[in-house]
Amino acid sequence: MFADLHLHTCFSDGTYTPEELASHGRRYGFAALALTDHDTLEGCARMGGACEAAGMEFIAGTELTAEQDGNELHILGYLIDTQDPKLLEEIGRFQAVRQNRIREMVARLNQVHVPLKAETVFALANCRSPGRPHVARALVQAGLCSSLDEAFERFLKKNRPAWVPKFKMSAAKAIDLIHHSGGVAVMAHPGLNRADEAIPGMVEAGLDGLECFHTKHSTATAEHYLEMADRFHLLVTGGSDCHGMNKGKPLIGTVKLPYEHVTRLKAKAAERKAEAATMHSPS
Ligand code: AMP
Ligand code: FE
Ligand code: FE
Ligand code: ZN
Repeated sequence: MFADLHLHTCFSDGTYTPEELASHGRRYGFAALALTDHDTLEGCARMGGACEAAGMEFIAGTELTAEQDGNELHILGYLIDTQDPKLLEEIGRFQAVRQNRIREMVARLNQVHVPLKAETVFALANCRSPGRPHVARALVQAGLCSSLDEAFERFLKKNRPAWVPKFKMSAAKAIDLIHHSGGVAVMAHPGLNRADEAIPGMVEAGLDGLECFHTKHSTATAEHYLEMADRFHLLVTGGSDCHGMNKGKPLIGTVKLPYEHVTRLKAKAAERKAEAATMHSPS
């Protein structure tokens, strides 16, 4: 039995709907899938239904944009309470910032005489957590760029005219929020962030796991983080980080996490839920 614990849909920067993603997951024979769209929980309800219909276990999740010592890093939250008012409020604030960033990017495009409207981007994104890929797609659809790559290269990459930095919360705050909603906090793709020195501080802040297995981790990288997870007594997770057709070919199926890690994840979530229940004061 295997799981893929890192997947994106059209509710952030992926291209698959929850139903399409679930049907690919079923085709690869997964026992469990987690949805980890960036800074949102919007797709979880539909993904839960789609997994159930396909006979797979669903693990509600999100991937929060965070930073530690100036490095951007991503914190995965698993088995969170998707109705937790505090989590929803913080995520709502995050999404408002993302939407303002789109307006700012469009204003900068307009300054260099690229006539795109923010409303066009929002209509195309059709989700609460829009980002640069949606701006890129809108530029292509409007005939203002001939490809997504061109859109990034000419306008959206760092130091290009429409680049706007992204809001990040502190890693400690992301971990706290996840714990507050009874979830488990895991550092995503540590091999892509080269921020090993940030890991002890995050363990101190309550980090529960490391995503050792990831499409872009070599065998040596996976082994390095497995050793680190062992040393810091952290859970081990893994996933494909599939974005559908967004970055070339779909990645679902490239990482198959043995189910025993899901069992451990669920045991840790039970602990975190018990702690969250004692933390919550009536308000
Ligand atoms: P954002 O989070 O809004 O800064 O956007 C980051 C996303 O942009 C990543 O998840 C990628 O999917 C996408 N992206 C970054 N660079 C490129 C590129 N050159 N071509 C296509 N997509 C890209
Ligand atoms: Fe992404
Ligand atoms: Fe990520
Ligand atoms: Zn991701």
